[in-house]
Amino acid sequence: MLIAQNGINEGSEAEVYGWVLSIREQKTLSFIIVYENRKQVQLVIKDKKLMSSQLKQNSVIWAKGTIKITDKAPNGFEIHVSSLKVLSKPKKLPPFNIMSTDVPALDLRLDFRALDLRRPYNINLFTIRSKALQYFREYLISKDFLEVQTPKIIATASEGGAALFPLMYYDKQAFLAQSPQLYKEELTMSFERVFEIGPIFRAEPSRTLKHLSEAISLDVEAAFYKNEDLMDFLEDMIKYVINRLYEKEGDALKRIKAPTLDISKKFPRYSYSEVVSWINKNLEEIHEGEDLSSKHLEAFGDHVEGFYFIKDWPLKLKPFYIQPKDGDYSNSFDLMYRGLELSSGGERVHDPALLRKGLKRTGLSAKGFKYHLEVYNYGMPPHGGFGLGVDRFMMVVTGAENIREVVLYPRDVRRLVP
Ligand code: ATP
Ligand code: MG
Repeated sequence: MLIAQNGINEGSEAEVYGWVLSIREQKTLSFIIVYENRKQVQLVIKDKKLMSSQLKQNSVIWAKGTIKITDKAPNGFEIHVSSLKVLSKPKKLPPFNIMSTDVPALDLRLDFRALDLRRPYNINLFTIRSKALQYFREYLISKDFLEVQTPKIIATASEGGAALFPLMYYDKQAFLAQSPQLYKEELTMSFERVFEIGPIFRAEPSRTLKHLSEAISLDVEAAFYKNEDLMDFLEDMIKYVINRLYEKEGDALKRIKAPTLDISKKFPRYSYSEVVSWINKNLEEIHEGEDLSSKHLEAFGDHVEGFYFIKDWPLKLKPFYIQPKDGDYSNSFDLMYRGLELSSGGERVHDPALLRKGLKRTGLSAKGFKYHLEVYNYGMPPHGGFGLGVDRFMMVVTGAENIREVVLYPRDVRRLVP
């Protein structure tokens, strides 16, 4: 916290509360870099008596002094200190230096995540993440979408297939929601356009650099949107957010050495069948209808570069609520960045008889979906939507290779604490 009653001006008085990032002692002067509310402030100390043994990296301090404007200091000014107090001193030697240019191993950093989050890199990264979410909201609200929150404790699997985390709900069995899918679809009946930013829980024991057991999904659902409208919308939203980040968060992006994403062109849209032909020609033989593996997507992603869509997936690879197209295909799409899937979406079934057929096709019992099916009897609009993995989007924006880097306290097969 910085208190500068008369603003940041040469000669004004200022007080600062913060934690020490680094201390540099010279013959006549000492320099301390302090974090105050995610910004670095330089303190200059002439009076050696103010320096005590309690003053070290990670100490929390209060200091008072006079502002001097200088472009040599982090934010264009420094404080020449006249009084200083240590409010909280570290009780232990930290397992790593938060200012070191050597980055400690991820596991060690995650074990001491609160300390790790003090590293300037992470302060920038998580500021960018928070801003990205702000810009997503900004975009969605400007398009007249309503932000909603749906239950995360559910009675039945929303999609089938994916593994669920069971839990005891009083005397009954319940599960953690793997997505807000069915609720967001129902909500288009009342609100027309909705979005939700919230956790999804996936119990598949994946051990990859892109899967978590708890991820954050940005879910969008809108009545009357067709497959192509949804892709247009998602593309426009991604470009809006990236442009806003480049416009407003350039400094933080530069500090974490984020890649520059080229979003000048329209994201190409390939049909699933086109991708299959490409794989057959360039990689190995696969059959129409087969799912595309990471290897396939990575090779195709290297060929395309940047963002692209894969649309019109075989119906049998998609959940029960997806709108069929030309018999064996579906009005669906995935948004990809190179080999990484960022989003899945599509048009949904709104006819109850067809929805029952979808349940049958995917081996789910209509009984478990009784309440959901009932909704479709009261005038369900044609609708569609998508789920965008926020953590995966942050991997793309920051250039992180491991999804755990962009999540405060990641949850995976091995990690439940801290
Ligand atoms: P994948 O094939 O990569 O496992 P999915 O097709 O199972 O993903 P969807 O059910 O389509 O995932 O979920 C929509 C989006 O949510 C995905 O495109 C992805 O960005 C994100 N997502 C899904 N599962 C996870 C997970 N376990 N960890 C992180 N993000 C996830
Ligand atoms: Mg998917």
